[in-house]
Amino acid sequence: MANNGDIAFLDLVTLHRELEEELAGVFRSALRTAGFIGGPMVEGFENDFARFCGTKHCVGVASGTDALRFALMAAGVQAGDMVITVPNTFIATTEAISQAGAQPAFVDIIESTCNMDPEKLREYLQTRCETGRSGKPIHRETGRPVTAVVPVHLYGRPADMDPIVELAEKYGLIVIEDACQAHGAEYYSERAKCWKKAGSIGAAAAFSFYPGKNLGACGEAGAVTTNDEAMAQKIRMIRDHGQTRKYHHDIEGYNGRLDAIQAGILSVKLKYLPDWNEARRELAAHYGENLANIRGIFPPFEAASVKPVYHLYVIHTELPAQRDSIQALLAEGGVQTGLHYPIPLHLQKSYRWMNLGPGSFPVAESVAGRLLSLPMGPTLTQSQIERVTGLIAAFMNVPPARARG
Ligand SMILES: *Cc1c(COP(=O)(O)O)cnc(C)c1O
Repeated sequence: MANNGDIAFLDLVTLHRELEEELAGVFRSALRTAGFIGGPMVEGFENDFARFCGTKHCVGVASGTDALRFALMAAGVQAGDMVITVPNTFIATTEAISQAGAQPAFVDIIESTCNMDPEKLREYLQTRCETGRSGKPIHRETGRPVTAVVPVHLYGRPADMDPIVELAEKYGLIVIEDACQAHGAEYYSERAKCWKKAGSIGAAAAFSFYPGKNLGACGEAGAVTTNDEAMAQKIRMIRDHGQTRKYHHDIEGYNGRLDAIQAGILSVKLKYLPDWNEARRELAAHYGENLANIRGIFPPFEAASVKPVYHLYVIHTELPAQRDSIQALLAEGGVQTGLHYPIPLHLQKSYRWMNLGPGSFPVAESVAGRLLSLPMGPTLTQSQIERVTGLIAAFMNVPPARARG
């Protein structure tokens, strides 16, 4: 955080200051062995992260976007397929779908969680698709097969996976989780009667280790987690120019490997991740207590079936004008905020060709104008939260709820 009392949206400087020596050690040992690509640091991190997620395999790649793209390709998504996701995600989700050769399709979200609405998915499969000769759904308008679904665990809150997986099984769809914001988040599966880590529920999952994520590299990095040995093998090949042995190329692949230095850094930071996630959860609870009595402000909803990791702490206002005023007022008070995301993907210039105008996904559109991401991160303090909520409360004209204990 800056010294002048401003509250950063995410304070990565403080976080890394505490780890500086340990992280510098990773760089030194890479220098001394000249092990920059592949090798024990990458394998070590892959093993650590697979264990953390409760999956058999983890394959380190160059970014979360690569992770999504490679997972879709390895799962068998083909050129000309359609892949269903949500419109209120980061564009990397749909970029990866397009780069795998498929066409993104959207279904709307649930307002309270901002995640995929399984009922909308069901409706899409029942009304927009017909059953093809293979028994799989064919999109009526385009004649393309719908082969996969990518639920996004937005803000670190797991999507409602049971009904999504159930529908996917019924319609023969592959489920690839976009877990890029959800390192360590958990979901209680009624079907399995147990808690499951984000990234261990679908056929495979993509993680990003972009510096601002809950587990962040000091640069670009990502990973795919899966229980499927064949898929893990395939992704290892795709990330490394399609080779299984040096200069033996089974397919054309990509240069999409995870750097050894980043892997070493991630192994160090992974040890702290459970504490950092717990800190985020406690801070979220503190926000919740302080926002509870402010009329017109809706703190994030936490269902009993999820343990979110609050990559982002996103409130909703009743009206768009209130959101804009609160954001401006917080900026004046030295509080940085963000919007995740201000324009749903179907209304972006890049997807104008889809011809999906305003009104196509009413929930995602309505929420986009009323959401506001407040400062969040493991080094944020309770008194900083009270300053943020105090400013919001003063604006909304009610006394702030008294912090407990
Ligand atoms: C960060 C993010 C990605 C992409 O990750 P990169 O590492 O930046 O490529 C994909 N999906 C979501 C939801 C993300 O938040």
